[in-house]
Amino acid sequence: MEQFKAILVERDAEKRQSLRVADLTEADLMEGDVVVRVAHSTVNYKDGLAITGKLPVVRRWPMIPGIDLAGTVVSSQDPEFSPGDEVVLNGWGVGEVHYGAYAGLARVKGDWLIHKPEGLSGADCMAVGTAGYTAMLCVLALERHGLTPAMGPVVVSGANGGVGTVAITLLARLGWHVIAVTGRTSEAEFLASLGAAEVLDRAELSGEPKLLGKERWIAGVDTVGSKVLANMLAMTTGEGAVAACGNAMGMDLTTSVAPFILRGVSLLGINSVTVPRDRRVAAWARLAADLDRDKLAALTTRIGFDEIVQTATDIVEGKVRGRVVVDIG
Ligand code: NDP
Repeated sequence: MEQFKAILVERDAEKRQSLRVADLTEADLMEGDVVVRVAHSTVNYKDGLAITGKLPVVRRWPMIPGIDLAGTVVSSQDPEFSPGDEVVLNGWGVGEVHYGAYAGLARVKGDWLIHKPEGLSGADCMAVGTAGYTAMLCVLALERHGLTPAMGPVVVSGANGGVGTVAITLLARLGWHVIAVTGRTSEAEFLASLGAAEVLDRAELSGEPKLLGKERWIAGVDTVGSKVLANMLAMTTGEGAVAACGNAMGMDLTTSVAPFILRGVSLLGINSVTVPRDRRVAAWARLAADLDRDKLAALTTRIGFDEIVQTATDIVEGKVRGRVVVDIG
């Protein structure tokens, strides 16, 4: 039987986490109805948390981390997929409770897969990854709320991160005046190249929020949570909305009801993990249509299998800029 390499995260009796690269065969994989040869993956913030053990992302031991994969179907008991089909997977607990992407082969449920969207390569899909897909879900949530670029600016926090860079790129392409919030103002030129019209130092949004601040934007995409999100809400124009998807600053959110009851501001929660298939397919179709490929390439770094662990450490330390594609196969 074919052997392939996989990153295994393990835990000892004292719950200390360790990592090793193991040689596995298909027989070692968990249950599923489709076997996929993994060609590409990526490193999201969540993958960084899983590999470093900084937060309890992994909930089944041992685990092969990696929440996103693109590859080719090897065998399938799901009638939706046939050998040779190119497929993409985001989320569904893969890399958390089900063996994930950092392996030569993955066996998953067909329900979790979609056919690779037209117009994007497998590597492009991983350059987008859960981070970029989540950015698109945020954009769709703001659109469903009825917000348009003509109504005012949009603010994006964690601007240099995976979600932030793709959100800026998408929103600028759609005609929004994008205000990028970052702790790395030295990257202002890079953020401008993606389409940011203004760059705001994260420090300006990191203090104790007032009940209400000066109205500065009609829409927001928040990837960091905590004080930054509280300040974003307090500075959102009446009837505006902030799509909240992340916690890079913290899980906490201490705010008041003032933005909600005095300005009609809405907080839109985004969870990319279990989005129904029709909405997933629609979000990927919008990514294929709306994402500027040159800008996607400019915000993407390519690494090999052996660089996954270091990159995972870097991403939780806030040192990774943009998106990372991993060549697996
Ligand atoms: P990245 O690490 O790529 O980006 C996070 C960015 O946040 C960093 O680049 C940095 O941007 C900023 N940041 C880092 N540390 C801090 C800090 N201590 N305080 C404030 N800002 C900080 O992660 P991703 O873009 O992949 O993910 C962003 C967030 O979204 C994560 O919390 C992730 O878990 C979450 N997420 C949630 C999903 C969902 O389904 N809800 C799906 C995907 C991601 P800068 O240097 O520009 O300030």
